[in-house]
Formats: sequence, C-alpha cells, structure tokens
Amino acid sequence: MNSQQIKELYANYVMETYARFDVALDRGEGATLYSPEGKAYVDFTSGIGVCSLGYGNRGWAEAVMGQALKLQHVSNLFYTEPGARLAKALVERTGMSKVFFANSGAESNEGAIKLARKYARDKYGAGRETIVTLVNSFHGRTITSLAATGQDVFHQHFFPFTEGFRHVPANDYEALKAELARGDVCAVMMELVQGEGGVLPLDKEYVAKAAALCREKDVLLICDEVQTGVGRTGTLFAFQQFDIEPDVVTFAKGIAGGLPFGGFLAGSRCESSLTPGTHATTFGGNPVCAAAALYVLDTLTQELLRDVARKGAHIRASIESWSASAVKQVRGMGLMIGVSLKDAKPADAAARCIEKGLLVLTAGSDALRLLPPLTISDEEIEKGLAILKSVLGEL
Ligand SMILES: *Cc1c(COP(=O)(O)O)cnc(C)c1O
Repeated sequence: MNSQQIKELYANYVMETYARFDVALDRGEGATLYSPEGKAYVDFTSGIGVCSLGYGNRGWAEAVMGQALKLQHVSNLFYTEPGARLAKALVERTGMSKVFFANSGAESNEGAIKLARKYARDKYGAGRETIVTLVNSFHGRTITSLAATGQDVFHQHFFPFTEGFRHVPANDYEALKAELARGDVCAVMMELVQGEGGVLPLDKEYVAKAAALCREKDVLLICDEVQTGVGRTGTLFAFQQFDIEPDVVTFAKGIAGGLPFGGFLAGSRCESSLTPGTHATTFGGNPVCAAAALYVLDTLTQELLRDVARKGAHIRASIESWSASAVKQVRGMGLMIGVSLKDAKPADAAARCIEKGLLVLTAGSDALRLLPPLTISDEEIEKGLAILKSVLGEL
C-alpha cells in the first residue's frame, strides 16, 4: 500500500483521536525510518521513548521470535522463565525488592496507586487514601491516571473522575509539606523529569527533601519512570541520579524495545502490600514481551548508558551553540531533551522538521521534545541536528 491508501483507510475506519503527523511509516534501520515510498526520516522520537534500541535490531528480533516460537503466553496462573529472569535483573539493577508486570504506563501507575492505598489502609485503616502529585505532571489516560495528572486540560469530558488526588506545584517543598500535614496522604507520585509537561527536570534538592519528608511521615514515594526509565536519562532509572530511595518505581514505554509492557517495582517497606487476589492482569509478564525486555536490559550496559549521557550532552550543547535561533532554552537529562521556543508554535516547528526528514515530538505548550533511540549513531545525530538547525534558523 502507498501512503495515500493507508491514510484513506485510517480516515474511513479509525476513530480520530490522534492529531497525527502527515506521514506513514513502513520500516526502519538503526535510528532511521522510511515511508512506503522510501523517503528517509531520522528518528528523534523512538515511538515516544519506546524503541530504545532503534529499528531492525537482529538480536532483539531473534529474542522475540525465539520466544514466540517456544511459548507466547500461559497466563499468570503458571510460572515462565523470561519473567523470572527479568524480575531478577530489574531488582538487582535497581536495589528495589519486588516487581509486578503490567502492559502500559497508565496501568502501571494505577497498580502503584492501588499498592499505596492498600499499604496505608493495612497499616492505618481508613482516612489515608489521598495521592499527591505535581502540577504539570502526566500519569496516563485512564480515568484514575487522568485524575492523578496535574493538568486541568485533562480534567474534562469524563466526569466523575476518581477521588483522592491533590496537586502541588513542582519544586515547592513548603506546599508539599502543607499537604502532607493534613494527615490523609498515602503517597506522593512524581516524574523526576516531567515529560509530556515540557521536559522539565525537578530540582535535585527538592526531590531529596521531599523523599526525606515522605519517609518521616510513612508516605510512599512513587516515581513515575514510564518515560524517564530504562536508560533514557543516562542511568537505568532516573532516580539513580537523585539522592533518593523511592518506595515504588513505575516503568513502561522503553522497557521491551517496542512491545507493550510495563510494571512497577516496590521497595522493602511495601513489597508485600499487594496480596493474592488484590491485583492482576491477563497479559502482564507475557513471555514474549519479557524476553524482549531482557534483551533490552542486557544491551543497556554501563558503557551504553554512559554513551547515552554523552550523546545527550552533545545534542544539548550543539543546540545551545546555535546563535540567533528561535530557541529559548534547552533542558533535560540524557537522551530526553526539551527545546523550548521563543515565539514559534512547537507543532509548526515539528511539522517543518518532518517535511525535511527529521521526526520530533512536542511537549508542554512551548517545547520540542527529542527522544531518539538510545542506540542512535553519531552520524544520525549530526544528520538530525543539521535539519533541526535549518528549521530553527527559518522560524
Ligand atoms: C506515557 C506516560 C504515561 C502513560 O503511559 P501509557 O503507556 O500511554 O499508558 C504515564 N506516565 C508518564 C510519565 C508517561 O510519559
């Protein structure tokens, strides 16, 4: 099928819930994607932080195919090896205690919310069910994860939303302290770099103080690492660059390199809160996805993670060095980069990049967001930066 035919079928048969870019994609190699007509695009999106190892990765595909031929699914009523090995790898590399496997970011956050409410109810009885999250956060699209999301634009249409969420401004320790003083809070949930909100890293000092306060009040600290996790920021999880020990860490997006997978890790305080019958999902821990995730984790060696940090720093420094451009600020960690623009609309800038053969994302109200595959080559980075520079120069 050509691009036009594909788009026509979407127009006729798929609900129009996405503002899609005007591009159909057919195949990929490294960090480069191709339309059905063969037009090449350098990819600074990795499917919104999902395709950690880029495209056409033989080892990853063989891990997936091998497991698909052997055993694709058995349900969580039985044990399988890929999930067992993946759980060990995740726990050993994070210092967390136990993991629950899920399928997406929103579902992983919902599970973490359930864990926190049960932890508090088991220990203190009713009255401690509020989850505090940050203004400008994003935690997912289910009714409950929308309630958790600290942006009013998401609190429309779908009333009634789940009760028991309050939002405080990011990096405002006193505001957080006041919320926790009310005595009804079981957890604080935060993204260490707010992704959809604009690629806004939290202050390290604020995060450390918030973590200490949570510990003092026996309030669980949940880090939503759905976007920041799995090597994106230059360490396996972003919390490893903050001086904290979270109680719960959620992950999804990049974990299986392109297959739907996610979950949450719990620390020793709350590893046993969810008991048989209290939480479950049919596909969670699916052997094919777990085999893919194991391959991703094996690939993310310390050396590769250092390279992610190096490449990210290089991209940020390059963009900062372009004088007289439309750029207001460059921010982020590792290969999670936000480029806020002075006047231009991010969606317009993104559309121009795409026309010229570079895929980029937007975030918040004023920023372009770059999430290239973690394995992107230096040559692909330079190609992409050249396109970005020419577009920003024309704005
Ligand atoms: C993408 C994202 C989610 C939602 O993940 P889905 O897989 O789309 O449900 C939740 N939290 C953060 C921080 C995200 O970036």
